[in-house]
Amino acid sequence: MIVHRPPQLTSTDEQALIDQVDALLPQTQCGQCTYTGCRPYATAMVRGEADINQCPPGGHGTAADLAALLGRPVKPVDTTFGDPLAPALVAYIHEELCIGCARCLPACPVDAILGAARYTHTVIESDCTGCKLCIPPCPVDCIEMRPAQQPLPQSEATILERRNLARRRFIAHTLRIADDKAERQRKLQARRPGPRP
Ligand code: SF4
Ligand code: SF4
Ligand code: SF4
Repeated sequence: MIVHRPPQLTSTDEQALIDQVDALLPQTQCGQCTYTGCRPYATAMVRGEADINQCPPGGHGTAADLAALLGRPVKPVDTTFGDPLAPALVAYIHEELCIGCARCLPACPVDAILGAARYTHTVIESDCTGCKLCIPPCPVDCIEMRPAQQPLPQSEATILERRNLARRRFIAHTLRIADDKAERQRKLQARRPGPRP
């Protein structure tokens, strides 16, 4: 679907513009924009396949910044994607209910959950972006979203720093999950019986 006819760009210029657009996004990786994360949404915007007002966590300010960068009309966030004025929340694990299944660990895009199989898990509040992606995999519903106990960053520099940290943690998480998958495949292959003599 083309929502905006973008200018023709070389592959290098396109990647550079995607980097700039991605830098404006909150790096929550929550998927409310209907894409699998911030960078896929950035890519779709640059290619003219998505509008600039689909990111509720970014709010109206981010939509305006995206419009300015991409030379498109300014629009408020489309609330069908979510509430841009929703209060910032972080995940909280009711540790007395946690069964240590570890299903929430791979779901957290920024590795903000501390735990291991058969041990109680807990959320590192300062790293939690409030994406809510850990909630569906929990089989005992012991994760709740609560208002953050620590004050959220207010200055532009601190917001940017937090966003960049979330992006780095997400990249590290994605690489670790890919490594774990490759390792599982290697172990499975090693267990398969070889050809009979
Ligand atoms: S933070 Fe915004 S751009 Fe990133 S995944 Fe969520 S809705 Fe999409
Ligand atoms: S702890 Fe849950 S809400 Fe917080 S960043 Fe991780 S997945 Fe998202
Ligand atoms: S998914 Fe729920 S029960 Fe399982 S480890 Fe995480 S918080 Fe505990």
